Amino acid sequence: MSSEKSQPQQDQAPAKQANCLFCSIHNKEIKANFVYEDEDAFAIRDINPQAPTHILVIPRRHVDNVKKLEDKNLIGSLFYAAARVAEQENLDGGFRLVVNTGDDGGQTVNHLHIHVLGGRSLVWPPG
Ligand code: AMP
Ligand code: ZN
Repeated sequence: MSSEKSQPQQDQAPAKQANCLFCSIHNKEIKANFVYEDEDAFAIRDINPQAPTHILVIPRRHVDNVKKLEDKNLIGSLFYAAARVAEQENLDGGFRLVVNTGDDGGQTVNHLHIHVLGGRSLVWPPG
């Protein structure tokens, strides 16, 4: 039996982008407060919360942002995880999902993520 491991296909590649904060958190190289995990995604508490509940839902696989998304199914998994997180956090009165994209969108970490914000009444439009 060969000891060589087969290379993962692109759409099965684990989170491993160099110098990526969320890949490092996924790989447990950097600590974070995990609140949810499934096969496609994990969720952590935001280090700088903008609401009483502020959680980031992050795909295990590295994708820079929504513009680079190739797998249509992944976004469904992320929304599913966000809904489970909102349930867990008892955000029964409602919540907001935010996906900052690019510089004008205010994205600071270039690994796709959904912010789950809740626990207070949120104003609209956002800043
Ligand atoms: P964005 O600005 O939309 O790219 O969101 C990135 C989020 O990651 C921000 O809300 C930051 O507060 C959050 N963040 C940065 N570093 C960490 C960390 N080490 N653990 C948890 N959240 C973080
Ligand atoms: Zn990454």
